[in-house]
Amino acid sequence: MVEPNESVCPYCGVGCGIKYDADRESAVGWKGPVNQKGELCPKGAAAWDVVEHEERLTRPLVRVNGTLVEATWEEAFDRIEREFDRIVADHGPDSVFFFTSSNCTNEENYLLQKTARKLGTNNIDNCARLCHSSTVAAMGDRFGAGAMTNSLEDLMEADVYLVTGANPAEQHPVIFRSYLLPALKSGTKLIHVDPRENPTTKAADIHLPVKPGFDIPLLNAMAAVIVEEGLVDEEFVAERTTGFEDLREYLAGIDIDAEADRAGVDPEDLREAARIYGEAGRAAIFTGMGMSQHHCGTDNVQTLINLPLLTGNVGKAGTGVNPLRGQNNVQGAGDVGGLPNVLPGYQQVTDAVARAAVAEVWGFEPPATPGLTEVEATHRFGDEVRAAYVFGENPAVTEPNANHVEAQFEKLDFCVVHDVFPTETAEFADVVLPGSVWAEKSGTVTNTDRQVIRMRQNVAPPGDARTDFDVLREFAQRVAGLDTPETPEGVFDELRAVSPLYAGMSYDGIGTGSQRWPFPEGATEGTAILHTEQFETGSKTAPLRVVEHVDPADPVEDDELVLTTGRVLQHFNSGALTRRSGVLMRMRGEDVLQIHPDDAADRGIEDGDRVRIENDRGTVTVAAEVTPAVRRGTVFTTFHYADPLVNKLTGDALDPTAKIPEYKHSAVRVLVDPAN
Ligand code: SF4
Repeated sequence: MVEPNESVCPYCGVGCGIKYDADRESAVGWKGPVNQKGELCPKGAAAWDVVEHEERLTRPLVRVNGTLVEATWEEAFDRIEREFDRIVADHGPDSVFFFTSSNCTNEENYLLQKTARKLGTNNIDNCARLCHSSTVAAMGDRFGAGAMTNSLEDLMEADVYLVTGANPAEQHPVIFRSYLLPALKSGTKLIHVDPRENPTTKAADIHLPVKPGFDIPLLNAMAAVIVEEGLVDEEFVAERTTGFEDLREYLAGIDIDAEADRAGVDPEDLREAARIYGEAGRAAIFTGMGMSQHHCGTDNVQTLINLPLLTGNVGKAGTGVNPLRGQNNVQGAGDVGGLPNVLPGYQQVTDAVARAAVAEVWGFEPPATPGLTEVEATHRFGDEVRAAYVFGENPAVTEPNANHVEAQFEKLDFCVVHDVFPTETAEFADVVLPGSVWAEKSGTVTNTDRQVIRMRQNVAPPGDARTDFDVLREFAQRVAGLDTPETPEGVFDELRAVSPLYAGMSYDGIGTGSQRWPFPEGATEGTAILHTEQFETGSKTAPLRVVEHVDPADPVEDDELVLTTGRVLQHFNSGALTRRSGVLMRMRGEDVLQIHPDDAADRGIEDGDRVRIENDRGTVTVAAEVTPAVRRGTVFTTFHYADPLVNKLTGDALDPTAKIPEYKHSAVRVLVDPAN
């Protein structure tokens, strides 16, 4: 029996089924397509806390004489329409930028990207830019598709998991508990590459504590072991790849021990890891932001991809390259065109045939020039970018070099923030529009392994707030004269008409299960394992590539340490939602800086001391946790808190291909806070 309130967890990319309980007092799991026993992690279980939270925005706010005051929807939209009209007339459509949301539905993201394109700009991006844009770029280049190659179900058949720069035990806990752990208990081996011991490491057979920024030497050395020890799948290499001779020659010139040393790992451990991976019948890679968030993030993943191509570990069950996606709809936000370079279905905006096909459905042709990416746009605020619409994102906390970001937001002529809480970014808004949370939405989201799952609205947004879908429809009409379908199902049908990846799906077909892309028109089901016969590249083959290491953008002086950041179980991204959960704040109310005992002793730091972390970009203070879990020379904290706002310290050097910032390597000084 279909229950009317089955929805999807608003947090990570696992996509657990979630609903409110009968008393409307808490969130509970339902047996969704991913959490098949109805299990939830602590974040999902606390998701009701944000629905009836006292700080929810319930009415539009408009800035008057420097102060945000309550307004009617009419007043708020009049102001938005007037300012967008003026700015576009004076400066052109590329003077506005849209932050769309990987925390919102496919249909909402679709509406906003279509609005931007009707206005005449491709200036739209979402926080996929900040997490896996480099992974998507590298996988797109090599395989022809930038998403998980395999399904969670078939990945249970792997003989070995190589987990690089990810901590699924904390960051994708239901995947870890329900898919990976059972496999590990049945004998699957786990190699964990991460500068820090964390809950995933506890389940590992081998831990390679790589120095942040030195993944390329490590992965090249692993590839060299695979070639040196005759572990190459020669048939696969001959039939499905190109470039082997060049790579073999390059790897033959590598000093494996020296590269392991450069990466900061034990050469014998590295050799053993390469043997385990290379000898496995089925070896699967999971990759995360430890790999992607570098100014060489695309090259990191390019190097990683050599391993499955050398060993024939693509296109069959229990193999592949599987990026663990962050937010509940970060996959979908890109799928539906919430990116500056692609239309729905990852069709390039520069492709005249694709634009014409989309124009057949839309009635207008989208612009042909790729727009700005998220950080590029922020850097141009006050110059060519004069207005921003920030939908369900909190860039004042999530973008690197936060002091600079704050100064840039001050330069905007006009800023709209559309969100459920008064976020840190809303402090810079001229108009704030109240939004809706998971229980108040209908539509679809697409999880990390390409499953499209439905959300069902069964609660009205509080006060005068409206659903995000309704707000975006009116926004589209007011600023772009765009009439859009009246229901999420209508928008989903339009999405299917313009995106070949979703063409064969249907709302009813998804039901309380899921449908997985690619699902072409006329197919009876989606595709679980990609690239089984050929790659979606022009040549149908995948190139092997020689990739050279480049040093991190931030040079580290003698007295400095490398700051790297990540997530913990209890919080999510900027913390705009999870920091408002009483349960989660009781579990983890404040941040700490993990520092190795030797680095702490060198600085006179004791466990629990308040420490100051500083560099030329900013200063924050936080309590120290002295622990050997982090490697010497590296310190770790999270990016979940507005205080301390760790992104004051991170740099905004960008990967040249994907334009992802180097969050994972910042040079910092750490000292006892004089106010201690
Ligand atoms: Fe939500 Fe992810 Fe936890 Fe599932 S694992 S309950 S999707 S945060």
